[in-house]
Amino acid sequence: MSVDHRAVDQSWLADLRASLADDFAAQTARLRELTELNADTGDPSEAHNQSALLLATRRNIEQITGALSRISEGTYGACQKCRQNIPAERLEVLPHARFCVPCQEKHNK
Ligand SMILES: [Zn+2]
Repeated sequence: MSVDHRAVDQSWLADLRASLADDFAAQTARLRELTELNADTGDPSEAHNQSALLLATRRNIEQITGALSRISEGTYGACQKCRQNIPAERLEVLPHARFCVPCQEKHNK
């Protein structure tokens, strides 16, 4: 048996793409809901909560679409800084990870 050094394998990627597409549908539905709710409750603290939720939902959608477009471009799984493969274990925990662990740590500083 030969050892496969690719970070992610194709069937895993196909599953991931399907689950990201589901997530995307769920998050956009949620965004629509929040946008409609946002219509005017007249309560400032409520409005504040909703805008925080909206922001978080938008960010989720961005991360999902980013991961999906990297999958279709064929760059998924490569660190966007150092171009090394991100370990599959990291991608399983954080499917939309854009950086490997060392680059992510530098990025956070
Ligand atoms: Zn890196």
